[in-house]
Amino acid sequence: MKIIHDHPAPKDAEARKAVAPVICYPNTTLPAFDPAFFDRAREGMELVAETYIPPRDARCFEVPAGHFVRIVSIEGPQVGDLNFWNRHDLTERFFSGKTRALHGTHISTGDRLWSTLPHLRPLATVTRDTLDWYGFDEFGGAVHDVIGTRCDPYTHAVLQGKDYHYCCHSNLTRALAAHCSLPMDEAELLVHDVLNVFMCTGFTKDTHQYFMKASPVRPGDYLEFFAETDLLGGMSACPGGDCGSSHSGDAATCYPMKVEVFRPLDGRLEGWTPSKPSPYSGGHGAG
Ligand SMILES: [Zn+2]
Repeated sequence: MKIIHDHPAPKDAEARKAVAPVICYPNTTLPAFDPAFFDRAREGMELVAETYIPPRDARCFEVPAGHFVRIVSIEGPQVGDLNFWNRHDLTERFFSGKTRALHGTHISTGDRLWSTLPHLRPLATVTRDTLDWYGFDEFGGAVHDVIGTRCDPYTHAVLQGKDYHYCCHSNLTRALAAHCSLPMDEAELLVHDVLNVFMCTGFTKDTHQYFMKASPVRPGDYLEFFAETDLLGGMSACPGGDCGSSHSGDAATCYPMKVEVFRPLDGRLEGWTPSKPSPYSGGHGAG
């Protein structure tokens, strides 16, 4: 937390600290986001599947390439922990860290959810965000973060000394095991760092610690993605509810959530093709 100062600052400390930052990953060479294409694709689209996510539980759902999927707030403010996998290879999954490095701590319309190495391709593009008005608040908070990992029973046991079985990690593990008929221990290894849908988070200004605050989401709000390849999704309605006070326990008020999948009309995706893995040639210089 950088609060211990055991060593004296050098004479040129101020000059060293005054060096201007540069963006690590300029993303101006990524394929441009084309809102008009998605507006046209959305016209007349048909709702083809709905999945109800019970509070403090998770469900998996499938999204064919070229379909839209919406995570919808229904009965009250509720945060969701989202996983995405390549439907045909569950070892290719959402890469929260690289998505953060490319797009920032919180994502919104136009950003992409990238997959793990050695694939690194867009699994999904964020195409609509009804909370995009929120921006960053006075505390530095914003919604839909790729900072947090997912609430899990291991961290809870370390911090609180007791077991809790309905953290998002466990919920997603049960849901994946059930959906894909996998043993729990195999499914657990495929669960990964999430996109925190609707969660309002940031880093404190003094110690830069991860904070959360009550989500501004209300029933009717949604976050919409376009599937850039065939996807399997996993969604947990976090036991933290709106994450305004606690998580990893039964104290918070929790609500269900809904996942909706939409198929565009024929001919509306002209010019679009499923995403391709990184063009890196491989080999890693091993000769
Ligand atoms: Zn959670």
